[in-house]
Amino acid sequence: MAFLFHREALHSRGVRSAVPKVRMTLEITHLGSGSRGNATLLQTEESKVLIDCGFSGRQMEHRLAQIGVDPKSINAILLSHHHSDHVQGARIFQKRHGAQLFANFTTCAKLGFDPINQCRIFEALERMQISPDLSVLPVPIPHDGADNVGFIINSGSNGRAAVVTDLGEPTEELIQHLKGCAHISIESNYDAKRLTLGPYPAHLKARISGRGGHLSNRQTADLLAEILGPQTKSVVLCHLSEKNNAPHLAESEVLFQNENWSGDLRVSTQNGPEFSHWLGQAEAEILSL
Ligand SMILES: [Zn+2]
Ligand SMILES: [Zn+2]
Repeated sequence: MAFLFHREALHSRGVRSAVPKVRMTLEITHLGSGSRGNATLLQTEESKVLIDCGFSGRQMEHRLAQIGVDPKSINAILLSHHHSDHVQGARIFQKRHGAQLFANFTTCAKLGFDPINQCRIFEALERMQISPDLSVLPVPIPHDGADNVGFIINSGSNGRAAVVTDLGEPTEELIQHLKGCAHISIESNYDAKRLTLGPYPAHLKARISGRGGHLSNRQTADLLAEILGPQTKSVVLCHLSEKNNAPHLAESEVLFQNENWSGDLRVSTQNGPEFSHWLGQAEAEILSL
């Protein structure tokens, strides 16, 4: 069975050249996540794909440069929904570097993108074959005023992964798709107590904690308790609120409710890129950047 090992010694940025060349499989790198911007990079032998492009064009280039990725090598950008923390740099990045944008019809319309020349439309639950070794399934998830989707990524024998943020509650459909994923990146947005006692006005607190808002640490931990098994090697908690949450709270809630799960648990913050996960090697690998 595959196991995980860490290269914690490699803390400095730009250490990629110091790492022995490994067979490219499905590599997942969090370029940053939170209410100020979200972007995740998927790399296989045949393609490089961004899930969301929520930093400025310059920031996206800067973050990709830190892991030695040429922005012109990005084939596709998949947009989950139209909120600016997920799309901010999408158009400028496309104009400068030519990546193909993908979004569903509502997201494309809300952003005012031309659905023929600027954006390819995908349908919920319709598998997109991005390259021979990478296909992606958009799964609808509830999020106020947006037609949001989570992405289930299939890279053949490398296994399946998921990137899911911005949902008020998990759906049965999502839970079924998350089961068996080798890697899961999922939001853990707020700590219920911090939100209740925090500075936000009542209407905003109600929106965040409502069905169309975000997942609390408790909701994420409950969801993971339902789906985690030995097949899931790694989980990344994403989109943490800087005002209503803290990494140790999110992490400890998940660990508390999943004490029998022994995979790798990490928290992604705004200051990526921080680490990569590789799926599909005999030895799954995690690199701290
Ligand atoms: Zn959103
Ligand atoms: Zn968001």
